[in-house]
Amino acid sequence: MTDTQNGKPNISPLQATEDKAGDSELLKITMERLRRAELLLRQSEYRLVRVQKFAGLGSWEWNVQTGDIYWSDELFRIFGLNPSDHQLIELDWVFSLINPLDLPAFKKVIFAAATDGQPFNLVYRINSGTEGETVVNCQGEVEYDAEGRLRLVSGTTLDITDRIRAESEIQQLINYDTLTGLPNRSLLHDRLKRAIAQAARDQQLVGVLFIDLDRFKNINDTLGHPAGDTLLKTIAGRLAACVRESDTLARLGSDEFVVILVGASSAEGITTVAKKILMLVSEPIYIDGQEIYTSASIGIAVYPMDGDDSYALLKHADFAMYQAKELERNNFQFFSREMNVKVLERMKLENSMRKALEREEFFLVFQPQVDVRSGRITGMEALLRWQHPDLGLLTPDKFIPLAEETGFIIPMGEWVMHSACRQNIIWQQQGLPSVRVAVNLSAKQFGQYNLDEMILATLMETGLDPQWLELEITESAIMKNAEQTAIILRKFKAMGISLAIDDFGTGYSSLAYLKHFPISRLKIDRSFVQDITTNPDDAAIAEIIIAMAQTLKLSVIAEGVETRAQMELLSFNNCIEMQGYLFSRPLPAEQFATLLRDGLKF
Ligand code: C2E
Ligand code: CA
Ligand code: CA
Repeated sequence: MTDTQNGKPNISPLQATEDKAGDSELLKITMERLRRAELLLRQSEYRLVRVQKFAGLGSWEWNVQTGDIYWSDELFRIFGLNPSDHQLIELDWVFSLINPLDLPAFKKVIFAAATDGQPFNLVYRINSGTEGETVVNCQGEVEYDAEGRLRLVSGTTLDITDRIRAESEIQQLINYDTLTGLPNRSLLHDRLKRAIAQAARDQQLVGVLFIDLDRFKNINDTLGHPAGDTLLKTIAGRLAACVRESDTLARLGSDEFVVILVGASSAEGITTVAKKILMLVSEPIYIDGQEIYTSASIGIAVYPMDGDDSYALLKHADFAMYQAKELERNNFQFFSREMNVKVLERMKLENSMRKALEREEFFLVFQPQVDVRSGRITGMEALLRWQHPDLGLLTPDKFIPLAEETGFIIPMGEWVMHSACRQNIIWQQQGLPSVRVAVNLSAKQFGQYNLDEMILATLMETGLDPQWLELEITESAIMKNAEQTAIILRKFKAMGISLAIDDFGTGYSSLAYLKHFPISRLKIDRSFVQDITTNPDDAAIAEIIIAMAQTLKLSVIAEGVETRAQMELLSFNNCIEMQGYLFSRPLPAEQFATLLRDGLKF
């Protein structure tokens, strides 16, 4: 005889014995069977509770019609609560237990399930009293009553905190180097792929710097592995200081590191970082009281020139690194030959520029500014030239950008200011007509903290009256740091120095800012003057600039005037002052003195 069939108590044999046995006997058997059935049920419930506890699985029910909410003991435990403290559960209380960041999503899912009847599954963090963050996975379903009204929402809630933590630990192991905590090769490829995709969209470069420490094996062998590890960690820290947050620094293994530089627009930016890395790596490192010197060799590949996928770029950077090591250690090499040549030329130019000042290779040429009605020279613009020992005569466009980048513009600008003022006073002392000299200032010079003091000192030293000095500044230079520039410009104005806006019309200008700055003159950019007789748009722009200057009571001068027709059209439109090849090319000082003495013929 079996007690159960299909897991359910079987009571039919009970009825079969009814007539044969006495009442008390029947009751005894019945009780015994009920007891055993109950025991089995308890056991199976107990097993379920145990399983739920091991699994961190809680169950719950929400009777939507009565508002009753049931929670299993295990569910309380997951939330860090004691079941006996919470007899009556309300919906708002449940909501209060959910991390506020996840609550909106939680409500949305539950209410959506209640409306469309679909089972749901969501992960959220709880606001528990327990330490650390608990993450749960909640699954549920919806039941309707016979009339089709929503009756019950029920389901399970599983504690998945450990799983999530293990997953993130696995991620850490998969993606990061254990010694330095830096991204490893796998994550590096990932980041590089992303950087390439972004650069393709923005039309920018990606620099891949493959860095290998020189003689690392040597250090490891003589000082031991712990010292080697300390060295690598120190180097990792120094490398991290060379890159921005958007860049990636990774360790490929042993003494190999890779830097991904994003957002670069030229090889120069990449070169700057490479130089900085070389410098920082070669600083001494102290390990166990010992001073250790190391250096690095860097190979550089650049997207898109040197490859368009992460593997090609890395391979080429690696290849370039070997070339760097072969040439001389503590050095960098670009993968492409052209890039190497370009960078090398720049470095040569940079080095020769530093020596050019003391070797007196710079000189000024002067171009007259003319009042076309009287034919008189009213001013001159000082323009810089460099007589390079190997490259010959260089115009500013060949070296000013480099000077700005390297900071050399500061001593060079000082030299220009001094030479221009001194030349002017010399001519005045020789009895030549007094004219103002215009000196160009680049944007970088406004960053010079003592620009005003430098100019004042120059005026005092040379004895030039400030009224004979004009500063030429481009619109973009002014706008770069408008607030600070306004302050400096007011100082100049107060000193009696006049200010001209160079290349006017090419930047973005508004009347508002023109009023904001103490300006005396606008220089109509050469590009408008060039086509003024053939392009009606350019003619219109020139006309507007002239009219605007008149309204604001500013002087106006046209630059780059080459033909008589240009001159006539400009003067017809009331622009009286001009500068350009039609009157004179920029001239060395001696020739300009002759012009000053004899006057201009045009
Ligand atoms: P910029 O201030 O617009 O200077 C005028 C440029 O136009 C000069 O070139 C001049 O030689 C040239 N030019 C003059 N008349 C004509 C003409 O009729 N037709 C044509 N096609 N060109 C003409 P340069 O001397 O090569 O100077 C180039 C730029 O270099 C200057 O442009 C200025 O921005 C900068 N620069 C020159 N000297 C200095 C300096 O001492 N310091 C700084 N910071 N920048 C300077
Ligand atoms: Ca100029
Ligand atoms: Ca100009």
